[in-house]
Amino acid sequence: MTSPKAPAISPRVGSGTDRSTVRFGFKNTYARLPERFYARLNPAPVTNPRLVKVNVELACGLGLDPDALASAQGVEILAGNRVAEGAEPLAAAYAGHQFGHFVPQLGDGRANLLGEVMGLDGVRYDIQLKGSGPTPFSRGGDGRAALGPVLREYIVSEAMAALGVPTTRALAAVTTGERVLRETVLPGAVLTRVAASHLRVGTFQYFAAQGDTEGTRQLADYAIARHYPEAAQTKRPYRFLLDSVIARQAQLIAQWLLLGFIHGVMNTDNTSISGETIDYGPCAFMEAYDPDKVFSSIDRQGRYAYGNQPRAAHWNLIRLAEALLPVLVDEEGSEEAALVSANEALAGFVPQFEAAHRAGLRRKVGFLSEREGDETLVQDLLDRMATNHADFTLTFRRLCDAVDGPMGDEGARALFTKPEAFDLWAAGWRLRMAKESVSARERAADMRMANPAFIPRNHIVEAALLAAVERQDFQPFEELLDVVSRPYEDRTGLQRYATPARPEEFVSQTFCGT
Ligand code: AMP
Ligand code: MG
Repeated sequence: MTSPKAPAISPRVGSGTDRSTVRFGFKNTYARLPERFYARLNPAPVTNPRLVKVNVELACGLGLDPDALASAQGVEILAGNRVAEGAEPLAAAYAGHQFGHFVPQLGDGRANLLGEVMGLDGVRYDIQLKGSGPTPFSRGGDGRAALGPVLREYIVSEAMAALGVPTTRALAAVTTGERVLRETVLPGAVLTRVAASHLRVGTFQYFAAQGDTEGTRQLADYAIARHYPEAAQTKRPYRFLLDSVIARQAQLIAQWLLLGFIHGVMNTDNTSISGETIDYGPCAFMEAYDPDKVFSSIDRQGRYAYGNQPRAAHWNLIRLAEALLPVLVDEEGSEEAALVSANEALAGFVPQFEAAHRAGLRRKVGFLSEREGDETLVQDLLDRMATNHADFTLTFRRLCDAVDGPMGDEGARALFTKPEAFDLWAAGWRLRMAKESVSARERAADMRMANPAFIPRNHIVEAALLAAVERQDFQPFEELLDVVSRPYEDRTGLQRYATPARPEEFVSQTFCGT
């Protein structure tokens, strides 16, 4: 494959020096990589940009002035109508397996990386506009994003961050004043996304598929420098890189499962090298526990069902190992040794995932140590939840109220179609808890940090998006965002947000809306 021809940059740098001037202090390490890694181009301007939201807390953490971002000039930048000082906008090249089928060239078809900023935490972050117009990678798409999916990504990624899950984040959302044509005509929007980087498994596949070993090596070196600098001190830096990505993905997928999160599109181009959750499409949190749960309208075979996510991640990591083979061969001295090395690394995924998942489940039910029989006990609860359609999030949250004794059981047991199913399990749970000497109060407090009260429930997300899209009413979006930004705190008056959908509110499918 040849990389697409890149239009020359012609940044329209802002001339104002007033207080509202946005100073990103962009670094552009990705733009220093060889030209075949991306296409340089500016975002395509939109008709009538209007600010929906600036993420004040995130902006401050990145050393950015939220007021400047919200100023007229800031909004122009966030909409792609003006190129910020120091930005070197580009659309990154990548490939990917989509639902198991390899596509040698995907790339940023509707996104522009503006540059990188250093967070106050010392981490380098990408600032990317998503929905910023067509690029050489658009493959016939319009390069735009609709308001609904932009707000969904905003809400869910911010919820994930607050839940403690590695994720890309939302710095801002603007509407474009333009309409995008999907199944229906929808208002357009641009999301400003912040990521530890936008390197994907698919980025490695892009070079590997072209037999471009030098490109693969440069990309691997970049990934190491940016995410796993310890690798550079080792004898086998590329093996270290592979091990590190595997470890991060194992932790990430365990966290997803522990929160009932279903990504929906775990293609290799949506699998990040930094280990962040990325590319929120038809994602959802499940309500009634069901290991086979699928929400995405495009996932007809349940490839990315809730309980299949560890397998899907492992499959994606095998694709990463394949892409890294040429550089592993150089490192190991022979193809045979490289294969052994890659397989050793890959063998680490399942045990790491299982250990993280088991430990997380123990914490969710309040066990402070690991004892024989724990796994069977926890599995028994999950089985009973599945049979009784118990709400995943609420069952665990209400379990915190039951630590003190059976008088606190009513909330949890009421979630089971046959409440006795909970009673039988709770008896065994109490016997197990009695083996650890810790006060009920302490145990419950720890459990409340592992079991959120609030997740973005699908029917509430849908209602918030509908209000914004159909009535330009952003109040439900703002409220929901506030609720999911403090997921572990009990707050009064928010019962509606913690309650599963009534049958008539039920959301059975989600759409990616691309
Ligand atoms: P996604 O499903 O959002 O992860 O996107 C998969 C691929 O399709 C990526 O290469 C995107 O850049 C591209 N894509 C998605 N939506 C659009 C769009 N509206 N216009 C152009 N490219 C798109
Ligand atoms: Mg994607």
